[in-house]
Amino acid sequence: MLSTDYLIIGSGALGMSFADQLLTETDANMVIVDRHHMPGGHWNDAYPFVRLHQPSAYYGVGSCALGSSRLDVAGFNRGYYELASGAQIISYYDRLMNERFLPSGRVQYFPLYDYQGDNRFVSRLSGDIQQVTFRKKLVDATFLNTQVPSTHVPSFELCDGVRLVTPNVLPTFAPDFKSYVILGGGKTAMDVGVWLLQMGAAPESIRWIVPRDSWLRNRDRVQPGEAFFKQTAGGLANQLEAAAEATCIADLFERLERTGEILRIDTTVTPTMYRGATLSCLEVEALRSIKDVVRKGRVLRIEHQTVILEHGTIEGCSDSLYVDCTAKAFDTRPSVRVFDGDRITIQMLRSGAFCLSAAVIGHIEAAYDDETIKNELCKPMQSPNVPEDLVRRALEELQAGRRWSVDKTLHRWVAEHRLTGAGIGQADAAAHDPDADRIRKRLREARPKAEANLSRLIAELAPESLRH
Ligand SMILES: Cc1cc2nc3c(=O)[nH]c(=O)nc-3n(C[C@H](O)[C@H](O)[C@H](O)COP(=O)(O)OP(=O)(O)OC[C@H]3O[C@@H](n4cnc5c(N)ncnc54)[C@H](O)[C@@H]3O)c2cc1C
Repeated sequence: MLSTDYLIIGSGALGMSFADQLLTETDANMVIVDRHHMPGGHWNDAYPFVRLHQPSAYYGVGSCALGSSRLDVAGFNRGYYELASGAQIISYYDRLMNERFLPSGRVQYFPLYDYQGDNRFVSRLSGDIQQVTFRKKLVDATFLNTQVPSTHVPSFELCDGVRLVTPNVLPTFAPDFKSYVILGGGKTAMDVGVWLLQMGAAPESIRWIVPRDSWLRNRDRVQPGEAFFKQTAGGLANQLEAAAEATCIADLFERLERTGEILRIDTTVTPTMYRGATLSCLEVEALRSIKDVVRKGRVLRIEHQTVILEHGTIEGCSDSLYVDCTAKAFDTRPSVRVFDGDRITIQMLRSGAFCLSAAVIGHIEAAYDDETIKNELCKPMQSPNVPEDLVRRALEELQAGRRWSVDKTLHRWVAEHRLTGAGIGQADAAAHDPDADRIRKRLREARPKAEANLSRLIAELAPESLRH
């Protein structure tokens, strides 16, 4: 029987970030189990043109940079920090496992093993059964339950002969077709639209079936480093001031859109979705060129001559290639306690900052003893789904920031952590700039007012748990 300090289920981004932090800060050993044959989780199943939607600087693990902090000079991300591709991410985690984790002598890795509960996992290939005892914690790094198109089962019916593909094989099949129908309104659908346009498809050759429109985060406002201080910190100041002054939730969204903090593809449609997707203005502009947008709810059945949707029927496109982008990405189930006896469940602690959250949980596990204090510092956030969740996450973000700033050591630790974008660009370039000082003052002044007003706005909403 195996014996270890930590039994970690899942070697996706979160399991790897947590384990990396334990390797840095403790002398603990660990067993890592995963159904996939390589670390990196859902990136193993990703479509070939997938990229991070936020700069690589915020992704990966604490001990090792992902990418080279390059500014893109071409494409729809030009002028901004690079976004790692799926292939780069898989290669990054493979190197980490083989050049840091395994050589440490403290990690035992069981790829292609299925964890079945009760400290037991089984090889999906040989049927080999392993039983393990752990001295410290069982770590569940599977809670987000990320789904990608290639691993999800479509919920609509399909007539024989209709050509439906996932984005994974789109580059292979796209050249054989003259027109395309994108199914889904989320980030994957946007990626497919952008990819088709970049590859030279005419906007008129694309039909887009959008069950729900989405609010989007503007990538311009999430750039790391001093060179972008004014737009990133200035954008945050705009957000806090809007949050401080908004009279209702609709007014808040109007204010955020006016200053470019959030975007939407069609400005005449009120979005009913918010899942944290982050796009550049150039990507949004490109997607606006697709005019054949169908808003009649979810697809129920695709036939040769007809497509049946929740709220109506449209003519089918028998010569078109249908692209299934209807996978949901994250579960939006309610959060659970991060530290619960001998179990740790890794979840998001700061809005959109998945890898940093896992690293912080690793650090808190290594550096703190008292479970109540640990949970106080690690209050999980639920994945967003609807626009009101942007407001809830904004308030939770402020509350988390305040809790962490009270603990000066933690505050400093987080500020210096690679996954906050620390170390990008010239240090202190904005330190003595009067404009930067003005932004800092605006941030200081707006923060408490924003927290108070967001609490008031949220009090008027139905509890989040009733919606999921
Ligand atoms: C297209 C896309 C782009 C994204 N871009 C960004 C970005 O730019 N920045 C950002 O911060 N986030 C981004 N995200 C969010 C992203 O999901 C998370 O950052 C992160 O990759 C999720 O990692 P995870 O470890 O929770 O999940 P996963 O990657 O799903 O890993 C979980 C692992 O657990 C394993 N597992 C599950 N159950 C078992 C079991 N019973 N036994 C054994 N193994 C099991 C699975 O095989 C899997 O490998 C993006 C997500 C998607 C889908």
